[in-house]
Amino acid sequence: MESERRQRLYRAEAVIIKRRDFGEADRLVTCFTREHGKLTLLAKGVRKITSRKAGHVELFTHARLLVAKGRTWDIITQAECIQPFLPLREDLQRTGYAYYAAELLDLLTQEQDPNPELFELFLATLERLGRAEEPRLPMRYFELHAMGLAGFQPELFVCLNCQEPIRPAQNYFHVGRGGVLCEACGPAANGARPISLPALKVLRYMQTHPYAELEALRLRPAVHAELEEVLFQYLTYTLERSPKSVQFLHLVRERVNHGMMPAGPAGGPNGESSPV
Ligand SMILES: [Zn+2]
Repeated sequence: MESERRQRLYRAEAVIIKRRDFGEADRLVTCFTREHGKLTLLAKGVRKITSRKAGHVELFTHARLLVAKGRTWDIITQAECIQPFLPLREDLQRTGYAYYAAELLDLLTQEQDPNPELFELFLATLERLGRAEEPRLPMRYFELHAMGLAGFQPELFVCLNCQEPIRPAQNYFHVGRGGVLCEACGPAANGARPISLPALKVLRYMQTHPYAELEALRLRPAVHAELEEVLFQYLTYTLERSPKSVQFLHLVRERVNHGMMPAGPAGGPNGESSPV
């Protein structure tokens, strides 16, 4: 019956975030979809050279899928590429960041839990990572907002202990409590780390402004480093694990630092070329 057949098929707009070989010629593909959230789907025969689907289910590809319900795995029956995000494949640093964003998305989400805003954010992040002079900015923006959309928005304006507004002074960030403590409460709190005013300002700015307004910011290397550290500590604490791709990212960065790889037009990964 035609209607019965149709019920077993569904469409999904997806980005491929993970894949692993399965059987002789197949792959299990983890997709983040606009309609259904995260899904693990079977892509049959894609490891064969003659496969026409293969290119459309590559990592970081934005694609339109037609999926058939299966007993164990739902199966990708058609895939049409919308955007391959080629710059993410052509530059190892950008590849590293894309891997990291995809892993973070994977860690933050459950299967079949739709979050269209997070889908949009991830898609925009891939596009930004592909073109940004300074990929650290879209990365930090993604970390902060993806955590927020997954229910872990940090408090950055009011002290989590005394509820007083945070003033321009020596403030603290507490990963366990999920936000800032003021100059009076911070020193006594176990596990609070000092956060500099510039770093806190940038975090607040990122939380309350669209990405387009962030792009004009030029941050000092020390601020970049602090933001990276604070957000990383916050997300590893919250997720109770450390994304594996971070090691890869650090390795790539070290190599760029030592002149073993071209750094691209943005200059060194520590922002040497950006105005201080
Ligand atoms: Zn306080």
